[in-house]
Amino acid sequence: MSKAIVVLGSCIVDNITYVSTFPRKGETVVGRRVATGCGGKGANQAVAAARLGGNVRLIGKVGDDSMGRFYLEELRRSSGGVDSDLVTVSKEDSTGTASITVDDAGENTIIIVPGANESMTLQELEAVRSVIEQAALLVCQCEVNMAVTQQALLIAKQAGVRTLMNAAPATAELPDEVIQNSHFFCVNETEAQTLLGMKVTGPGDAADACKRLVEEKGCHTAVITLGGQGCVYHTRDGHGGHVPTVPVTATDTTGAGDCFVGAMAYYLAEVRELALPEILRRCCLVAAVAVQHPGTQTSFPYKQQLPAELF
Ligand code: ADP
Repeated sequence: MSKAIVVLGSCIVDNITYVSTFPRKGETVVGRRVATGCGGKGANQAVAAARLGGNVRLIGKVGDDSMGRFYLEELRRSSGGVDSDLVTVSKEDSTGTASITVDDAGENTIIIVPGANESMTLQELEAVRSVIEQAALLVCQCEVNMAVTQQALLIAKQAGVRTLMNAAPATAELPDEVIQNSHFFCVNETEAQTLLGMKVTGPGDAADACKRLVEEKGCHTAVITLGGQGCVYHTRDGHGGHVPTVPVTATDTTGAGDCFVGAMAYYLAEVRELALPEILRRCCLVAAVAVQHPGTQTSFPYKQQLPAELF
């Protein structure tokens, strides 16, 4: 079996309530329906990569509660083969949750309680050091404890393991070391804007932003995703460009970024001879399939549903 794509990331149970209008402070409204699903950027990306055929191991943490048991069961049942043996169960903290309300206009409100995702310790990370050191690629986001994420990137870098950092959700306080220890650093337009304090609204701005992420912030390769406009990249050796995507009728773009990053992990780790622009072209095509289907993990395609030319 190939070396693993190791994802250090979040497991979050999404509880989605559909209402006609949001309740005001102090008001009770009757909702239309509820849905429960598996989310969390880390697990989402792990699932996206595994469904393409990647050998994926997820390092994460859930609570010792019904949601945690539901999450582990779903990972075993429908993740496309993500190895969840390194997802531990916290006795102290609840499983991470996102309480999402969606109204008839499609607007949403979201409350995230990180719970166990935030309580991973450096000691617990030390216990999986060798897994990271032997990985094909380490993938991180900003939804687990930042000190642990930072240390994981450092462990990978020191072991010569390539890293793919998706700095989402972005904060202007992201430690510089995180970007410096990221071989591939991927964000969307809004996140790039938050990190760099500059306007990023299309391929032109995004190209400048990618250049700054490489030259000023220190990653090796920066990628900025641009929704229906595809993505833009820049590398330390001065290559860069815009990779457009195919026009599709998007019905639900939730999780598009996670699908893109999961696909990137798959192509970087499993199809090593591909040039970056070709990897990004394929990531755009995979994500374009996801945006035509509802939900987050439920919208991520399996290898069998995609054209053979992508493999
Ligand atoms: P995020 O989900 O983080 O906001 P983006 O919206 O930039 O990320 O989407 C990530 C990728 O998903 C894009 O680079 C693109 O390849 C694909 N994508 C997103 N929206 C569309 C769309 N409307 N049409 C086609 N592809 C899309």
